Order: sequence, then structure tokens, then C-alpha cells
Amino acid sequence: MTRRLDIANLPEFDNHEAVVYAVDEKVGLRSFIAIHNTNLGPATGGTRYWNYISEEEALRDALRLSQAMTYKCALSRVPYGGGKGVIIGNSHNPRKRHLFAAYAQRVNILNGSFYTGEDVGLTADNLRVLEKESKFVIGRERIAGNPSPWAARGVYYAILAALQAVFGDSEISGRMFSIKGVGKVGSVLCGLLYERGGKVHVADIAPEKVKSIKRKYPRVEVVKSSEIHKQKVDVYAPCALGGEFNKKTIPQLRSQIICGGANNQLASQEDGERLHSWDILYVPDYLANAGGLINVVAELDKRGYSRRRVEKKVRGIRTTAKKIIE
Ligand code: NAD
Repeated sequence: MTRRLDIANLPEFDNHEAVVYAVDEKVGLRSFIAIHNTNLGPATGGTRYWNYISEEEALRDALRLSQAMTYKCALSRVPYGGGKGVIIGNSHNPRKRHLFAAYAQRVNILNGSFYTGEDVGLTADNLRVLEKESKFVIGRERIAGNPSPWAARGVYYAILAALQAVFGDSEISGRMFSIKGVGKVGSVLCGLLYERGGKVHVADIAPEKVKSIKRKYPRVEVVKSSEIHKQKVDVYAPCALGGEFNKKTIPQLRSQIICGGANNQLASQEDGERLHSWDILYVPDYLANAGGLINVVAELDKRGYSRRRVEKKVRGIRTTAKKIIE
């Protein structure tokens, strides 16, 4: 029996403008689309496909992630609001194509109040189905393309601002970094730091990711996932999943700066205060990782997509980070 969810009483509910529960049992679709705030423009946010253990877990993720998208859009000065889609995954579903087509149709019903694209768990094939079925899908292969390198570059620029604030210079060479998760974002960030002389520690639960990063960047040091946040480094960059900083993990940190690509790094708002009281400079995830968003919404620019404009805006993350830190 399914339990009725009291949305407005969930801790992640923040006066969201709308929450859509999109279900199609024939194709195994169970999903939520949360629209947090559209004051600046239509909601935008990727769609996540994840093996959530319950509808409540999925909904709470959508509420939290859509709120962060509102902040991300506002800080990036793009005329959009916060939204997010989450699909409850099932790795045994043989009708995945139909599932994504059904989901795209639900996005179409929102008729442009919600633009979506790739997020964790979506494959290029899934994205192709979404693109085919909906004109409200952005981050298309042949236009803006993969947002991850842009997200990584934004993190890199935010790191420069944080280094400047803490150490008085933004030199990468000789500084120490640790990166949790060397997937699409973490691997590019690793390259940016490594190639500039940074000493980088990495961890990933997927052995093939570790192998591939070590092949590309042989001087990288590999540590266990459970140990990566405890490394004595200048900057810790979480680039796996969120919710990592809490009462237990914060006292174990030995880095002066946290600046990474993962969404929703703080387990709760209080953990932001907690980091502050431990004298750790935390660059908000929704600022540091905004490069991906900046790249995909550039597709909606009436002047057309321009790589040059995207680059300029992503570089601007450094200035915004500097102002926030100050
Ligand atoms: P990804 O799936 O390509 O990479 C994540 C990596 O983290 C994987 O290699 C995975 O094995 C690893 N991982 C998962 N749990 C781990 C753990 N406990 N310890 C160590 N490693 C672990 O995803 P991605 O696209 O690189 O995204 C990473 C994070 O950045 C996510 O939180 C995502 O929401 C966020 N983000 C991504 C983008 C983007 O454009 N890809 C943009 C903004 C934010």
C-alpha cells in the first residue's frame, strides 16, 4: 500500500510553486517534477534517474535539487528559475525507451514552464529519446553538448577565488587537492589541476574510473573513498553525490577549502554553519558547479548559442565567488 505524502510538511519543501507526480504504470514510469521558483523565468533543471528506495526519497531529492537550481540560476544571472525532475529507476525495466518517452510527454504538458536535460543516471540514449519527444529538452548533443566540462571549469574558477581569499594567491602549482568522484566532472577538474602542477588525490568507488584517471595522470594519488575527505590538503572537491557534510564528517575534514561539483553537499543548512565554525571556507555547490547550467541554457538565448559567451559567463563564477567570500 502506498503512503500518502504530505508534501508541504517535508523538510525540503520551500514554498515550491508546483510539484508534478508523473506516473505511467504501463511503462513503469514513476517520477516527480518539482518547480521551485519562476520569478526570474521558466524553471530549468536536469532530470535524474536513480534507484530511489521510496517515492518519498525521490520527492525529497527533487524538492532539494530544484531549490538549489533557483539559487544557481540567480547567482549565474541567467533568466531562469529552479526546477528538477527525478525518475525512480528500475534497472530491470525492459521498456526504458517507452519510459523516457512517457516522461517527455509529461514535460510537454508543462508547456515551457520547465526545461530539462541530463543529470545523474541518464545515458546518451535516454537523452536522445527525451530530445526526440520534447522541445523542452536542452543540452542537446549538436548544440551545447556535454555540460560536464563546463561544470568542471566553473569549479576550477571558484577554486581560484577561494585560494586567493585563503592564501593570498591563486597559484595551483604546489597546492594539494583531493577529489571525491572522478566521473564526468571530477575527471575534468582533475586534469585542470594536475596540468597546472597541482598535487591531486582522488577516490572513486568505480575501479575503472580510478584506473582511467591514473593512466591519464600518473602522478595522481589514489586513496580509499572512505578516506578522501580526511586528506590534509588545501582544497577538497566533492564531485560524487551530495549530502556528504554532516555532524560526523565535518570534524574529520583537514582541508581549508571545500569547493566541488557535487550538488547538495550539505546534509542540512546547519552543516553550513558547522563548516563555518570549523573555519573551513565552503564555496556553495550551486555557485561552483553552475558552469553546466550556464552552458545548457545558452541554447535558449535568442541570439543563438555562443561558446564565447558561455566561456565568459563561466569565467565570471570566479568574480561571483570572490564577492560572496568577501
Ligand atoms: P558521474 O556519475 O559521471 O560521476 C560521479 C562519480 O562519483 C562516479 O565515477 C562514481 O563512481 C563516483 N562516486 C559515487 N559515489 C562515490 C563515493 N561514495 N565515493 C567515491 N566516488 C563515488 O557524475 P557527474 O556528472 O560527474 O556529476 C558529479 C556530481 O556533480 C553530481 O552530484 C552532479 O549532480 C553534479 N553536477 C554535475 C554536472 C554535470 O554537468 N555533469 C553539473 C552540475 C553538477
